[in-house]
Amino acid sequence: MSELTKLTIAAARDAMRKGELTSAELTGACLKAIDGADALNTFVHKTPEIAMHQAAAADARRGADAPSLNGIPLGIKDLFCTKGVPSQAASNILEGFKPEYESTVTTQLFADGAVMLGKLNMDEFAMGSSNETSCYGDVVNPWRRGNDDTALTPGGSSGGSASAVAADLCLGATGTDTGGSIRQPAAFVGITGIKPTYGRCSRWGIVAFASSLDQAGPMTKDVRDAAIMLQAMSGHDPKDSTSADIPVPDFEAALTGDIRGKTIGIPKEYRMDGMPAEIEKLWADGTAMLKAAGAKIVDISLPHTKYALPAYYVIAPAEASSNLARYDGVRFGHRAKLSHGDGITEMYEKTRAEGFGHEVQRRVMIGTYVLSAGFYDAYYNRARRVRALIKRDFDNVFAEGVDAILTPATPSAAFGLGEMAEADPIQMYLNDVFTVTVNLAGLPGIAVPTGLDAQGLPLGLQLIGRPWEEADLLNVAYSLERAAGFVAKPTQWW
Ligand code: GLN
Repeated sequence: MSELTKLTIAAARDAMRKGELTSAELTGACLKAIDGADALNTFVHKTPEIAMHQAAAADARRGADAPSLNGIPLGIKDLFCTKGVPSQAASNILEGFKPEYESTVTTQLFADGAVMLGKLNMDEFAMGSSNETSCYGDVVNPWRRGNDDTALTPGGSSGGSASAVAADLCLGATGTDTGGSIRQPAAFVGITGIKPTYGRCSRWGIVAFASSLDQAGPMTKDVRDAAIMLQAMSGHDPKDSTSADIPVPDFEAALTGDIRGKTIGIPKEYRMDGMPAEIEKLWADGTAMLKAAGAKIVDISLPHTKYALPAYYVIAPAEASSNLARYDGVRFGHRAKLSHGDGITEMYEKTRAEGFGHEVQRRVMIGTYVLSAGFYDAYYNRARRVRALIKRDFDNVFAEGVDAILTPATPSAAFGLGEMAEADPIQMYLNDVFTVTVNLAGLPGIAVPTGLDAQGLPLGLQLIGRPWEEADLLNVAYSLERAAGFVAKPTQWW
């Protein structure tokens, strides 16, 4: 039975279409696996009744022409509002919040027959790279360093999604990515994660972090599954004015594996000082694989890369401080107990001090500072100008004929929980060095597992594509995936 949960979405779909498997069986197996995996702390709100109900509906609809996701059990990041189901963004300030509405992305997934197993742990308000800022506690990576039982981070902020997929608790999961939160955790657990072009998926009903950067995307066992899930998640939504009204191509059909004649750029600025030799080697190996598959490899320059991280850590907190102003103790979730004589100011202050964790408070303070009248030009406007230059770097290389860019996904393999947290936030921010540029430029980016390090931990490479060309990007990723042949799985200890 437990083997069922190891199926890819495509394999489960095909088996269900042929009548060899029911969604009820598959969903039941996932629910059992989830109940046996509390040590990973991935599912923070389990929804077995909803899941079995959706599975029965999917089984009734089963047939050759059912949508690809019909009957497929998924996990949903806690950042997505799901009707009547706790949606807390892993924050105490949203304690008890059950939305009256369903996010557009989850509405689309369920319309295609997907089954919701529950809500997945994450960093509070998606701020973090290690899943250590969650009000539900840390998520644990199913992978371990050899025989060492140190608990490792799955990355963040979509750490629950990453661990749940890697541990075969669900067939796929939703994630969101503002600065790397799909790609970095995917790389840390050896799965695939794509952040589509900004505007490809509706942000409606997803708790906002930094609205000009946030995008939803799938986290899956392989590239084909990412194509299938992204298809269902994408499309124009009149309720999100930044969602693009352009057709969604058939992403799965684009997976031919033929990349002959494609030009792949290798950006010299992504070769960081002190980069581990293993990451260097992984990158060189990936480059060689794409070359062997018939791509032309060119060296490129993205000269403003070094300013991306500082610009991101001005823009993202600025937008967050504005978005999070709505958590005032009046409209949603938690309200502090007030003392006699407390007025409205005390209510805001006490509620926000109790409800927000340290990292969120730090971001709100930084954001408020960079947006304040005296510093707006020096920080916020300057960061916006840097952002435009970063985008122009990418526009230039694409105009020169580059189809996709290959980089490492992360500067290291998964680190131990507690090894980097709190002590030095800047150290933590460095995790996003290869991913934030993509959000600042609004481009699609995908992390593909390509190897293991000396300690047996997964490592991933990132491919960055032209705007709106996810189909092409997925195909390059598919080619890399086939060449890398990454099939390792964590040994079950939980
Ligand atoms: N780790 C980054 C941050 O903390 C990115 C988070 C994200 O993409 N949501 O902001």
